Amino acid sequence: MSDKKEAPAPGDRTVIGLTFGNSSSSIACTVDDKAEVIANEDGDRQIPTILSYVDGEEYYGQQAKNFLVRNPKNTVAYFRDFLGKEFKSIDPTHNHASAHPQDVDGTVSFTITDKEGEDAEPSTLSVAEISTRYLRRLVGSASDYLGKKVTSAVITIPTNFNEKQKAALVAAASGAGIEVLQLISEPVAAVLAYDARPEAEIKDKIVVVADLGGTRSDVTVVASRGGMYTILATAHDYEYAGAALDKVLMDHFAKEFLKKYPGNDPRENARSLAKLKQESEATKKALSLGTNASFSVESLAAGIDFASTINRLRYETIARSVLEGFNRLVESAVKKAGLDVLDVDEVILAGGTAHTPRIAANFRSIFPESTNILAPSTTPTAINPSELQARGAALQASLIQEYEAEDIDQSTHAAVTTVPHITNAIGVVSVSETGEEVFVPIVEPETAVPARRTVQVPAPKNGGDVLVKIVEGNTHIKVTKPEPKKSNGDSKAAKVEDADEDSDFSDDDDSDEEEEEKREKVWKIGSTVAEAAIRGVKKGGKVEVTIQVNADLGVVVTTREVGAKGGVRGNI
Ligand code: ATP
Ligand code: MG
Repeated sequence: MSDKKEAPAPGDRTVIGLTFGNSSSSIACTVDDKAEVIANEDGDRQIPTILSYVDGEEYYGQQAKNFLVRNPKNTVAYFRDFLGKEFKSIDPTHNHASAHPQDVDGTVSFTITDKEGEDAEPSTLSVAEISTRYLRRLVGSASDYLGKKVTSAVITIPTNFNEKQKAALVAAASGAGIEVLQLISEPVAAVLAYDARPEAEIKDKIVVVADLGGTRSDVTVVASRGGMYTILATAHDYEYAGAALDKVLMDHFAKEFLKKYPGNDPRENARSLAKLKQESEATKKALSLGTNASFSVESLAAGIDFASTINRLRYETIARSVLEGFNRLVESAVKKAGLDVLDVDEVILAGGTAHTPRIAANFRSIFPESTNILAPSTTPTAINPSELQARGAALQASLIQEYEAEDIDQSTHAAVTTVPHITNAIGVVSVSETGEEVFVPIVEPETAVPARRTVQVPAPKNGGDVLVKIVEGNTHIKVTKPEPKKSNGDSKAAKVEDADEDSDFSDDDDSDEEEEEKREKVWKIGSTVAEAAIRGVKKGGKVEVTIQVNADLGVVVTTREVGAKGGVRGNI
């Protein structure tokens, strides 16, 4: 069954932004150029990516998720990453408590009973068909909400989706009657959502997007230069994500239950395990908001009801190794980009798991003061991390909805994928008040090309002939060691003990602060690109320098005195 049909004419489109995750999906639209995430008929904005069949009836989202306890065999979950993949290359870890993926001629399928009746034949459905059915429901909810049929969408994808995965997603959407206007990468969608805010200042910056989901964590380092986004590095992890945090709580409460009722491990029975998981996830989410949360399951195992509570500190302690995994992933991505944490202007926390306050607090301590950490627990104006990508996709969709399909590819792909860029900065040498030569950046490192930037620099006080030196610049990290303190044997011993004490790890930074060395980013003057002499500059005058870097990385420099005619121009 396919809703496939001719693509609509640009003027007839009704567009949305879509995120389609392994754990959850979201729909967004724009109203007066502002993006908003739409709730489905259940009132959910984070819609579980799950389909379930009961007596031939199809359920999706939270309703399907509820069936993981009573009807796991006919419930399909965690399938997005299987699209466009061969069976032998998938990881079915997360599918053990729902329909299992199956090898059908090397591709991934699921066998479920999706028809009514006692003796209904089971159907074997490809992951493409499952995705089509799920997307059809998602888009159906969007059409209901908007009161008109949604025709087209911008869909977000992970940065490591290959061509086959992209093609499979476009085909699955097309099967659901959806024209895919564009696939944009998840981190860029998140950056777009922030940059579209009216108060956003669009300036050149390095942004780290930490997208922490349910089954995977993806960290991307993005250079934003003059409105162009360049992906500098990515890091992926399939171990440290929301499901690992659920597992920590599942083990915690299972052990508590076992202590009280020896011999009844809820992890040993499929239904008990499903209940344990469901409630642990709810408890985990509650701990993002409050410092205490309850856990309560009717008939958890052997018919015994179970209720307990946990506080946030205890949770953070038992989840410490998972939480530290996120830190390492972020640090490794920054390193892969050849950058230092001091180079990072913004860290955007995206994905459901990014609601966890401890994660944002840990990132706060990795990055310097000057880095903006955009998460709900650190920045009151932060955008809901679960909504960022859908919002970015909706903004992009409204931007390109008037384009002809073939123009979209050409005009917008470059803006959101890796484009050629310069490595070092280009700028001028200026003389500081203390008489030292300093580098003034004009074009920041990692700027996508072609690019053109202009600055005005004051000429020496008395004017006259001015020599403008255009040079490359790069940053290095200057480390200033603190004055050695008098050694204090006692406090040292105390610190070693502290480090072993689980609950105290959050205080480590404060106690170390005084002894920490000072690290700062300083410019180093590199090789000379050009020199231009401007004669007879007026007293108190200014010199304007324009640097244009062409697509082939050739540089054109123009210098002139502000307010004067003519100037010096040279190709390098
Ligand atoms: P993936 O593709 O990695 O499986 P996703 O992109 O589909 O994930 P997200 O919605 O980004 O899904 O993340 C889902 C995860 O976020 C789940 O583990 C969920 O429990 C967790 N989560 C959602 N809300 C919160 C919250 N408020 N606090 C903590 N965790 C949360
Ligand atoms: Mg995701």
